[in-house]
Amino acid sequence: GEQKTVEDFANWLRDLAVTLHENAAYLTELDSAIGDADHGTNMDRGFTAIVAVLDETTFESVDELLKKAGMTLVSKVGGASGPLYGTFFLRFGTALAGKEITPASVGEALKAGIGGILARGKPELGDKTMYDAWAPALEAYDGAVAGGSDLGGALAAAAEAAAKGRDATTPLVARKGRASYLGERSAGHQDPGATSTTLLLESAARTLA
Ligand code: ADP
Ligand code: MG
Ligand code: MG
Repeated sequence: GEQKTVEDFANWLRDLAVTLHENAAYLTELDSAIGDADHGTNMDRGFTAIVAVLDETTFESVDELLKKAGMTLVSKVGGASGPLYGTFFLRFGTALAGKEITPASVGEALKAGIGGILARGKPELGDKTMYDAWAPALEAYDGAVAGGSDLGGALAAAAEAAAKGRDATTPLVARKGRASYLGERSAGHQDPGATSTTLLLESAARTLA
């Protein structure tokens, strides 16, 4: 498709805010089974704050927009997910500074953002966290780009892989975050963070195609 602009990325954040608002009760219900029943309200609060920033600020560049989104999440969302998603957007934006938006540069930025999640949360694959959606998503994204996909195609592949990773969290015993306090009783429930990560990538695939 066309070269992506700061407006396209702002539209992604707006679409994601709507999606998270619509899914807030669902995400909180998932978190009520293995956490403290706030993941939906956390994400909704954070992205409502991002939309308020978008409404009052004109951003000159994609990296400034994404970094501001990250800082907003860090400051408005407590708990595990605020710092994790906040760091994702901060590093995702930073990696795009001065870069042309291409499938390859967005892939490098995704890798940097996920690196931030790893640095903050120390998740390993199979710990039943959002990383179980992010890791296969990045692998699928890179594979699609290597096969010649455009940005929308690579993001669609990432979203599809994230959904599979999300579904695969259900039987797992949590080893990170609040759900790990439940031990074996965390098995049989889908991870809330892996679910919101899938919504984030599905929204990106819709709006940045
Ligand atoms: P809290 O658990 O503090 O209430 P949320 O409910 O908003 O925060 O987010 C919970 C989600 O955060 C989990 O479902 C999981 O995906 C993710 N998470 C928690 N701890 C970690 C971690 N150490 N690394 C990666 N992701 C984590
Ligand atoms: Mg919670
Ligand atoms: Mg909480």
